[in-house]
Amino acid sequence: MKLKNQLTGLSPYKPGKPMEEVKAAYGLDQVFKLASNENPFGASPLVQEAVQAAAAKPALYPDGYAQAVRTELAESLGVEEKQLLFGAGSDEVILMLCRAYLDAGTNTVMAVPTFSQYKHNAIVEGAEIREVPLVEGDHDLESMLEAIDENTRIVWVCNPNNPSGGYINAEAFASFLARVPSDVLVVSDEAYIEYVEAEDYPDTLQLLRTYDNLVLLRTFSKAYGLAALRFGFGIGPAKLMQEVDPIRPPFNTTALAQEAARAAWRDQAFIHDCKEKTLKNKHELMNFAKENGLSYYPSEANFLLLDTGFDGDEVFQALLERGVIVRSGQALGFPTCIRVTIGTDEEMEHFQSALKAFLHEKAESSAQR
Ligand SMILES: *Cc1c(COP(=O)(O)O)cnc(C)c1O
Repeated sequence: MKLKNQLTGLSPYKPGKPMEEVKAAYGLDQVFKLASNENPFGASPLVQEAVQAAAAKPALYPDGYAQAVRTELAESLGVEEKQLLFGAGSDEVILMLCRAYLDAGTNTVMAVPTFSQYKHNAIVEGAEIREVPLVEGDHDLESMLEAIDENTRIVWVCNPNNPSGGYINAEAFASFLARVPSDVLVVSDEAYIEYVEAEDYPDTLQLLRTYDNLVLLRTFSKAYGLAALRFGFGIGPAKLMQEVDPIRPPFNTTALAQEAARAAWRDQAFIHDCKEKTLKNKHELMNFAKENGLSYYPSEANFLLLDTGFDGDEVFQALLERGVIVRSGQALGFPTCIRVTIGTDEEMEHFQSALKAFLHEKAESSAQR
């Protein structure tokens, strides 16, 4: 079979290591997964009930338009129902946007390193990828603007950025938007917005009222604790979202996911509580890093990119053997870093003692040399 040229050599997404696999491989009874930025506190208790009720009717197709959840989200976000586009995770919204606007002869601008799926889907569409290096973990918006030309269709900003954790503030984002040509789509991926503490984070919902080339991406996979169910959405100009909608597979989000998302959305008190706990543990981890002479990138998300100075793969492996799964910075474009999801108190204790043990071992072996 003759594969499309651009698919040759493209590898599938490499997820964090599954816990069961790690337990079996290293003979551990307990494993802590701090690799994929999921909510360690799970989902709202309301979700269980909603999912069970929906699970009682598995035979019928879901509502492809997701009307019930659409109505609730639109109302609470203060947007029109037609401004929402739902996906099986925001990953699928990224795919749909790429499919709608990119093909051979077009290009797309993004930071590097950033979330892998912008590039991945753009490659599938045959578009040229223009990657603009981060500066100290942050988007270089000036250089991104310079990379735009008449063939640019989409510019991606990941705010806060995965994997570095930094954010673009309101002033910088507003002046960026004002200078992007109006026929170039700006996608603001806000997968971690629920965790943002910075008071000058942009009010992107407000900016949607001014710009008709702006789309926001939100997900239920992170703070809302529904990664297993796959539910995310885009918010954008009604006309644009309606243009993209024909690409959406007819029943792309399941009835379980839709009901779970409604229940999770209603329980904002749960989200608030998770945010508080996560921020407390993030600040503790930052203190731990300082005490141990490790640097890190400032993060507005529920993860921290820690620079240990050692090969990320080596640290990853050492932690794995001690029952803690993190992400090696090698695969994320930060070779001497690890990316650690902020977990529960117990998870953070295990992580800290495992990392300390590793650092201690390294100190011992260099003292012997
Ligand atoms: C996790 C993540 C997503 C997508 O998550 P879904 O599970 O597909 O909703 C999107 N963007 C960023 C930056 C992420 O970290």
